[in-house]
Amino acid sequence: MTGSQTVAFSKNSTNLFFHILTKCNLACRHCYINPAQHGKDRLPLSTIKAWLGAFSKNSRSTNLIFLGGEPSLHPDLAAAVRYAGERGFGSITIDTNGYLFGDILSKITPKEVDYFSFSLDGATRETNDGLRGHGSYDTCLDGIRRAVRHGFKTSLIYTVSTDNIHELEMMPPLLENLKINRFFIQVIGLRGKAALEINESEPVASPQVTRSQWLDTVPGIARLIADRGIAVTYPKVFLEPGEMFECAGKVADNYFVFPNGRVYRCPLCEDFPIHSLCFQEDHLVPAARLNEQDFFELDIPEGCVMNKLIQPRNIDYDEKGVPEYKIACCLLKEEIQGE
Ligand code: SF4
Ligand code: SF4
Repeated sequence: MTGSQTVAFSKNSTNLFFHILTKCNLACRHCYINPAQHGKDRLPLSTIKAWLGAFSKNSRSTNLIFLGGEPSLHPDLAAAVRYAGERGFGSITIDTNGYLFGDILSKITPKEVDYFSFSLDGATRETNDGLRGHGSYDTCLDGIRRAVRHGFKTSLIYTVSTDNIHELEMMPPLLENLKINRFFIQVIGLRGKAALEINESEPVASPQVTRSQWLDTVPGIARLIADRGIAVTYPKVFLEPGEMFECAGKVADNYFVFPNGRVYRCPLCEDFPIHSLCFQEDHLVPAARLNEQDFFELDIPEGCVMNKLIQPRNIDYDEKGVPEYKIACCLLKEEIQGE
């Protein structure tokens, strides 16, 4: 049996989530990309290099994740990966929906990339394709198999919602069959299209699962998967009484970079123009206050202030109006090493 461990925010490493374009071939139902806030640009290679340069002072301790949109739609993805390698980034991951455009598996080598990280939102074709689009299940599985054949290490990201939590229990054999090295369970956030769905068509049911659905399902299945030798990471989401609340925006080093130059420290802020930094003429500079940093300072009984602002339905209150638990920072994770 494997034990789980809550991973305190690392004080010694940085995570750089670099969206090099927002264009995508899919139109997933809950896509968090918001072109009105993140732009529609595809960054030229020269800009990608300049922006990586702005983060390369501590590159050895920085985990770099290339994302989109679909990053393999960028014709210079391989060149960007190579440049990041030259700048000494500690790890390099490419997040992909599995379509792997531009023959990317042949343009880079397993020495140049630590992980290809695939997204699948259902254990069956029916559920995944209902959320991510017709054909995406088969293409993703085929992409994983091709990446493994090319010698790359792979991760799989599964974003849990009311539409697919029932299929999580079917994932362990599938992950093993696909030879996945790391499994990331995410929780759906009400941002991007998921937020629009809620706001525009009330009273639609929220795709967010309840505390009891989450606790009854996710930790147990994570353990079963780890028992098959696959490392599993999932967000804490609901703090137990007495557990300390911390905001990653104050104590950790995460950067979410978008092609319009906005740089956020918190993913829950990405639907709003409250980024704390931005690129101006390729220099990283602080953005005008008020911004997300002012929210990070707020101390409320519900825990995460952005959760309270954008998705308060996941908080329960007692008859006196006191929250029954705190919502953890969305970046606080539990990790179980595969054994
Ligand atoms: S693959 Fe990613 S970027 Fe593309 S539509 Fe789906 S969630 Fe959005
Ligand atoms: S999710 Fe909440 S706790 Fe985490 S960085 Fe954002 S505001 Fe802070």
